[in-house]
Amino acid sequence: MPELAPYAVVDGNSRGRAFSEPRPKARGEFQRDRDRIVHSTAFRRLEYKTQVFVNHEGDLFRTRLTHSIEVAQIARSVARALRLNDDLAEAIALAHDLGHTPFGHAGQDALNECMQGHGGFEHNLQSLRIVDRLEERYGAFDGLNLMFETREGILKHCSPAKARELGQLGERFLVDRRPSLEAQICNLADEIAYNNHDVDDGLRSGVLTLEQLREVSLFARHAAEVDIEFPGIAGRRRVHETIRRMIDAQVTDLLAESARRIAEAEPASLDDVHRAPELIGFTASMREENRALKAFLREHLYRHYEVLRMTAKARRVIQDLFGAFLADPRLLPPQYQSMAASGSIERTTADYIAGMTDRYSMKEHRRLFAVSDF
Ligand code: MG
Repeated sequence: MPELAPYAVVDGNSRGRAFSEPRPKARGEFQRDRDRIVHSTAFRRLEYKTQVFVNHEGDLFRTRLTHSIEVAQIARSVARALRLNDDLAEAIALAHDLGHTPFGHAGQDALNECMQGHGGFEHNLQSLRIVDRLEERYGAFDGLNLMFETREGILKHCSPAKARELGQLGERFLVDRRPSLEAQICNLADEIAYNNHDVDDGLRSGVLTLEQLREVSLFARHAAEVDIEFPGIAGRRRVHETIRRMIDAQVTDLLAESARRIAEAEPASLDDVHRAPELIGFTASMREENRALKAFLREHLYRHYEVLRMTAKARRVIQDLFGAFLADPRLLPPQYQSMAASGSIERTTADYIAGMTDRYSMKEHRRLFAVSDF
């Protein structure tokens, strides 16, 4: 393995763990973080949480789990090619969506509305809350006690008010400092993963058509390349050949542009990275192509009436559950009732609902609301 760059995060320049622990015997600190995340309860639940299509709509669509694994794959490849810490990149990627509610963004929006006046709800902050407090796996501390840089990478964005509450971890949002390059990579790996797999899932579901995708340059130019190389190719194979090329073009662009920016800024240490402008990024032309793809997906996929019907229903499930628990906290499982006793009932209810998988929330909804189902 090539030596890591002097500005990579390593065990030696890390700000460490909140509770000090003996060093791991046969692995690095960030490998240990990755392993803790993989063994967590919240990670296993990702399998039954919606990305765009509701989990039970079909076995081939992405779930939060497969999405997170795709993000980790891209983040690891980019980190390694830039001689950065790919264990850290992988840990951040696998944890970045742990705080998602059931039913994707519809669920998060509904829960955020319910939490107005009680601190709101934001999945990114919830991911941090899970690894810092909610996972119950250790005798000595709450949460997973992850390394500072893993937690920093999970917290992608943050309002100034929240940043002040978060102390050291929130500091960078108040003083305009960048996170590690490994964290910056994960942000863009997330974007590459969902833009491309949403095209794939959109086509598979029939919500998107190849006809419509002709207007998206990133798709159209790679589809044209496929048609020249494989005349007569059709169906899934043509789609996959095209999407594969789209991912490759984005990763290649990201690598070249980031390497160029790093060479120009010449960071000599991790501290230089914190002070520099963002060093991980796409070229202007790829940024523009990505923007167009996102706008296309927003219009034709995320706001498609079939998707909106699903999200409207999801919203109702979340609102009903929240209302029922708030009206009578004795309906919460006993473990959450005792959590509420030492915190706020609203936050505890949000923690309970956010932790649910799609199917569990529907089951819970049936248990509480279906009169035919006592
Ligand atoms: Mg994501």
